Amino acid sequence: MNQKTILKIYLCGAWVFALMAATGACAQDHATSISLESMYAKCLQGQMNDVLEWWDQQDHDDLTDDQIALRKRYESRFVNGKDLPSDHISHPEIAQLQRSFERYWLSALIHPDEVDQAERTLAKELETLSGIEHGAQMSPDTFKVHLEAWALDRGYHALLVGKTAHLRDCFIWKVDSVARYTIPLVQDTVMVEVHLMSDFLSFGWMGFTTFDRTHAGGWATREALFAVKESYDLESESYQVSYLCHEGQHFLDYQHFPRLTGTDLEYRAKLVELIMAQERHHILLQHFQTHAADLPGQHHPRANFLLTTHLQQWMREQVADFDGDWNSVSKADIRKGSLALLKAHTKLLNALGADRVESAWDIPEKVEDKSAAQHE
Ligand SMILES: [Zn+2]
Repeated sequence: MNQKTILKIYLCGAWVFALMAATGACAQDHATSISLESMYAKCLQGQMNDVLEWWDQQDHDDLTDDQIALRKRYESRFVNGKDLPSDHISHPEIAQLQRSFERYWLSALIHPDEVDQAERTLAKELETLSGIEHGAQMSPDTFKVHLEAWALDRGYHALLVGKTAHLRDCFIWKVDSVARYTIPLVQDTVMVEVHLMSDFLSFGWMGFTTFDRTHAGGWATREALFAVKESYDLESESYQVSYLCHEGQHFLDYQHFPRLTGTDLEYRAKLVELIMAQERHHILLQHFQTHAADLPGQHHPRANFLLTTHLQQWMREQVADFDGDWNSVSKADIRKGSLALLKAHTKLLNALGADRVESAWDIPEKVEDKSAAQHE
């Protein structure tokens, strides 16, 4: 059975991905079907040795035919280095570009201790392939720009070199159409360009580890937004609010609070989602709650933690009979509470100095990879 769903998954690496699309290879109706979710969760963390071990532990009789075929694909790709996306790229240099990343991913995923060496090898291969010398004089940002221009000269759009979580990444797509939006936000509107991308040849390392079942649905730079077209129903609230308003708020905040760091940015954008939503308040809150963790430097889990804690507190103070269950709260109260939190946060940031404030909270947050910081 082929089923297409959209998952919302937040990553806490150097980039923020708004959505992840999940396609194919879903659980079967078959009585003996086993859940693959824990296996896919390990894939998204890059723990491929655990994934291979997990497949080894499964009893053959418990697997459906599709699952048996999927196990073979995992073995083929991650044990034998076969069944690779680059096998299907017709342009020889672009295939080579993808192949360099595949070698790096395989090496770094299977031998995590050797990731630094794998990165050096990747850098050398990219230099040789493109003829762009990435010497001490060239910043990673500049190298990335040159390399992406090199791919574009060959007719392919690409997002290269920056990190998703702990690994360097590679997205390649063929069709890129630009739409201009005026996005309504809480008080302002913001104008942005959205690149609607399609015909992908590479969905990055998470696509690589999940056979494109789960992959990034989009990202933001300080100049524009990028969305994987197939991941969205462009009329849905998920796109209009959780993608456009969320990212639009980042745009606005980049201007008003230029040094603001990840947790604060995400806290604000998630509150804006709750304020601008028409239907999905409870779904969003449930998601934030499930993915909340007070981990310094982990932007999305920490923002979820702070948002849900602060909103619970507001509800206890302002809503009679609130028993801690989000389902018992009306949409109007969720909107009202979220607006109050956003206003309080804005006030605090302004008091700390809009042009220099990094966070309304105590823990300073380090941006690990300068070249990828623009994708926060
Ligand atoms: Zn965000």
